[in-house]
Amino acid sequence: MSLEPDATTSRTGARPLIKSVEMRLAAFAFLTLWVPMHAQNPLKLRVDATDATRRLFHVRMSVPVKSGPVTLLYPQWIPGEHAPTGPIANLVGLKVQGGGNAIPWKRDSVNMFAFHIDVPAGISAVDVAFDFIAPPDAEGFSSGASTTTELAVLNWNQVLLYPQGVPADSLQIQAALKVPPGWRYGTALPIQRESGNEIEFQPAPLTTIVDSPVSAGAHYKTFDLGTEGDIPHYLHVAADSDRALEAPNEVVEHFRNLVKETGALFGARHYRSYHFLYTLSDHVAHFGLEHHESSDDRTGERSLIDPDVLRASAYLLPHEMVHSWNGKYRRPAGLTAHGQDGGYDVPMKGDLLWVYEGLTNYLGEILAPRSGLWSPEDYRESLAGTAAELDNKAGRTWRPLEDTAVAAQTLYESGDDYGSLRRSVDYYPEGTLIWLEADVLIRQLSKGARSLDDFCRSFHGGASGKIEMKTYEFADVVAALNAVQPYDWAGFLNQRLHSTDSRAPLGGITGSGWKLVYDGVRSDFWKAYEDRRKYADLSYSIGLQVREDGSIVDARYGGPAQEAGVTPAVKLIAVNGRQFTPTVLREAVAAAKPVDLLVKDGEFYKSLHIDYTGGEKYPHLVRDETNPDLLSAIIAAKVKR
Ligand SMILES: [Zn+2]
Repeated sequence: MSLEPDATTSRTGARPLIKSVEMRLAAFAFLTLWVPMHAQNPLKLRVDATDATRRLFHVRMSVPVKSGPVTLLYPQWIPGEHAPTGPIANLVGLKVQGGGNAIPWKRDSVNMFAFHIDVPAGISAVDVAFDFIAPPDAEGFSSGASTTTELAVLNWNQVLLYPQGVPADSLQIQAALKVPPGWRYGTALPIQRESGNEIEFQPAPLTTIVDSPVSAGAHYKTFDLGTEGDIPHYLHVAADSDRALEAPNEVVEHFRNLVKETGALFGARHYRSYHFLYTLSDHVAHFGLEHHESSDDRTGERSLIDPDVLRASAYLLPHEMVHSWNGKYRRPAGLTAHGQDGGYDVPMKGDLLWVYEGLTNYLGEILAPRSGLWSPEDYRESLAGTAAELDNKAGRTWRPLEDTAVAAQTLYESGDDYGSLRRSVDYYPEGTLIWLEADVLIRQLSKGARSLDDFCRSFHGGASGKIEMKTYEFADVVAALNAVQPYDWAGFLNQRLHSTDSRAPLGGITGSGWKLVYDGVRSDFWKAYEDRRKYADLSYSIGLQVREDGSIVDARYGGPAQEAGVTPAVKLIAVNGRQFTPTVLREAVAAAKPVDLLVKDGEFYKSLHIDYTGGEKYPHLVRDETNPDLLSAIIAAKVKR
């Protein structure tokens, strides 16, 4: 472990430590007036990650308690994951002791995340020990694969128990972490001291600990992304090789632009310092998870050195950073229980995720071209793909958008098969369309004087430099929009949230001077997107998404292949009598003649005839000269450079 040269405090964003004993005592005297018992006696947490390369974390805790019945909880509902995804099955070897004697524990028979103990008289703290098994190549979010032999991402919620009944905001935790010798690390959690490969952090509330993951690795590099209004920003990269760290200067410059563009968009920053924990590996789960002062971003190993790999995920870091404002600072009331007086056992309500995730999706995507991470053409190709996906979903006629948000906790884990009929977490991509339309409407109604940027400055602005959370409800969003531009925003939003129209809301695209078309051109953007997803996407021609090995990811419900009898998850063996490869299939479709398929379904083979002759079709946006080009104005850089 190590830091970038002489960066101990600045890179963690720690405020200068109180230097003199007098000041320390004065601060302590002040704190004792109001801080509850747990703040004076912090829960001590030591995590030994030296076996992370063997996928084991060793945990030792000292938990302040009173004698009598005590319940220890393992975090269940994980902030940002909107679901009860705490990996409780991977907690093993649990032992509890008090005063040197074993204390038996009993798991609750209903709540699998709760352990009951009976603390003997005279005991003021119990010692808790357990191991956490980090999963192998598993998909999922933070509970997916998070370690390789070269790196590890530690999410504290996976390696702690906390006593029930103490609000997460006032339970103080003094955490320490031991990383494998020689590894470097990064985190937003302020550091108290370090020696050798051990780091001791400043005491912080449980909320902040859970919100502050650590990345570490043998191949590690920290890039300074610049200080804006005294607030520093860092890009910490952990990778499976040194080569993967060799980001060209112009790529790092795009991330510096991103920091500046977020300042122009929001006008305030609700963090002490900001840290991208960017993990580059083909063997960890790929996703991003937002935090107030950092984000846990994971993509392929070559993301910083191969422009096509970066292009396919360039929206990710902008998206996660936007969440510091939209998701952490401003949060739907239904998603905040753990941060106020509850614990992580309180179920979340996702009905406003079309703001939390949907607006973030829109803003993250427009920040990519504003920062230079995407070209304007890349952005338009991405938007065309989003529009096409939503405009070709049979599930729209039974499931309104709001239900995808309410049911978020079931949809993240649902399969891709018949995805067009089920619908998925559509509040992300459809949020892009709805918020684009709102942006265009504000620009049109105000005759170019205002835009959604003004909404962001008023809704997400305020005082800079400290962690804060302000909750909201539907009516607050409507009121904030009305304050920027009077309009029937409640009617606008309700119509789009409750519609069972078979077609997607494309008013933002047409209103901004563009239209959705399909042709046979498979763009570089589309190829990059197919490479990232590891399948060929012929959704808008014969209606198939198919992997290299022939397995069908999905057959679009109501599309030519599905109508001809192709079922999701079967295997494509041959196309027009020739062994299947993605190229053989594409060329058969491009020939604009009916296609014969041989598919394998379990032990049985079927010949299927698809009477489709329309050629290859991929979505694009083309300019509609009858309307002014607002889209190009929306994605243009706002900060001069
Ligand atoms: Zn998000």
